[in-house]
Amino acid sequence: MTQSVDVVVVGGGQAGLAAGYHLRRLGVDFTVLGADPAPGGAWQHMWDSLHLFSPADHSSLPGRLMPTQPGETYPDAGHVVDYLADYEKRYGLPVQHGARVGAVRRDGDRLLVEADSGTWRARAVVSATGTWSRPFVPAVPGRGLFAGRQLHTVNYRRPADFAGQRVVVVGGGNSGAQIAADLALAGDVPVTWATRRPPRFLPDDIDGRILFDVATARRRALDEGRSDTGGVASLGDIVAVPPVRAARDAGLLDVKPMFPELTTTGVRWADGTRAEADAVIWCTGFRPALAHLAPLGLRGPRGHIPTAGTRAVAEPRLHLLGYGDWTGPASATLIGVGRPARDAAREIAALCAHN
Ligand code: FAD
Repeated sequence: MTQSVDVVVVGGGQAGLAAGYHLRRLGVDFTVLGADPAPGGAWQHMWDSLHLFSPADHSSLPGRLMPTQPGETYPDAGHVVDYLADYEKRYGLPVQHGARVGAVRRDGDRLLVEADSGTWRARAVVSATGTWSRPFVPAVPGRGLFAGRQLHTVNYRRPADFAGQRVVVVGGGNSGAQIAADLALAGDVPVTWATRRPPRFLPDDIDGRILFDVATARRRALDEGRSDTGGVASLGDIVAVPPVRAARDAGLLDVKPMFPELTTTGVRWADGTRAEADAVIWCTGFRPALAHLAPLGLRGPRGHIPTAGTRAVAEPRLHLLGYGDWTGPASATLIGVGRPARDAAREIAALCAHN
C-alpha cells in the first residue's frame, strides 16, 4: 500500500536529522527512512579510537550543542552516536531505521520512494545518504595478485586485529593519518604509510574549527564572483589530532611515496624497492551514495548531481544534503550541515505550500 507524505528524507545520519529538525520547525509533514538498524549514521561503524577533529561545541547540529565528553577535548565516535540518538529522540524525529530506499522515481506531480519497508508518494525528497556505503579503492595494478588482506577505512576497527603483521596504509588524508598513527602507536604493527604527495598537516594549533570558517569564506568568495580562496585544501589535508601528532613527533610515521603496483607479497616502487606486507588498508576516500536516485537520470560530471545550493537543478523536488562542498560549504561535517539543511527545508516548505 502506498503512503502519502509531503517529504521523505532518505538517510538517518546527521544530515538527515538536520533536515528533519528544520522541516519539523516549519511544520512540514515528513518521514525519515534510514538503512542503518540504529541511530548514528556512519559514526556507529567507525573504528574504536576515532576522535572528532573539532571540539564538541564545534561539532553540533542545529538546535542542540553537543555536550563535552568528560576528559576529552575531541569526543570519540561513540559520543557522537549517543548525541545523534539523543537528538533524534529530543526532537521526536520520525526516523524509520532499517528502511533502505532502493529507488526514487517520478510519478506525475509526486516522487515515488520505494523502500524495503514500503512505498511513499511525496511532494519532495531530501537525499542524505552520505558516502560511507561507497568506499573508493583505486585500480592499482597487482591488486588482484596480492595474497595478503586488503580492506578499506570502513572495515578497520583496531590495531589488535593486525598484531605482529606488516601493514601498508594508503592515503594522505585524515583517515590515512589517523589509522597509520593508531597502528604505529600500538607498537607491534610495523606500518608503512604510502601517500601520493608528502602529508600536509594543518598547523598544530589549528583543528577542525577552522575547516568550517575557511569553507564558508570560500563559498562566499565564489558566490560573490571573487577569486577562489582554495578553501581548506590550501591549508593542508590533515588535522593533527593528538594521536597523529604523537605518532608524527615520535617519528613513527614511516611515510613513502605511493607505489605503482602490488605484488603477491607486498608493494613495489618504480625504483624496484619493495615492502613486504601482510595487509593493505585503503584509506582512499569515498563516493556519494546516490544509486537510489538513478531512475531520475540526473548524474552529472564526477558522479555528482548538478545542484543549485542543495536543490537538484533538473529535479526541483529533490534536495541533496551532506555530500561535501558541492552541496554546501563543509556540509559533510557536523557543524557545516545545519545551514544547507535549513535552506533546503525552507525551499521545500515553499514548494509544498504551492503544489
Ligand atoms: P552518514 O553518517 O553516512 O549517514 C547516512 C545514512 O544514510 C546512513 O545511516 C546510511 O545507512 C543511510 N543510507 C545510505 N543509503 C541509504 C538508502 N539507500 N536508503 C536509506 N538510508 C540510506 N565530520 C566532522 O564534523 N568532524 C569530524 O571529526 C569528522 N571526522 C570524520 C572521520 C571519518 C573517518 C569520516 C569518514 C568522516 C568524518 N567526518 C567528520 C565527516 C562527516 O561528519 C561524516 O562522514 C558523517 O557521517 C556524514 O554524515 P551524513 O549524515 O552525511 O552521512
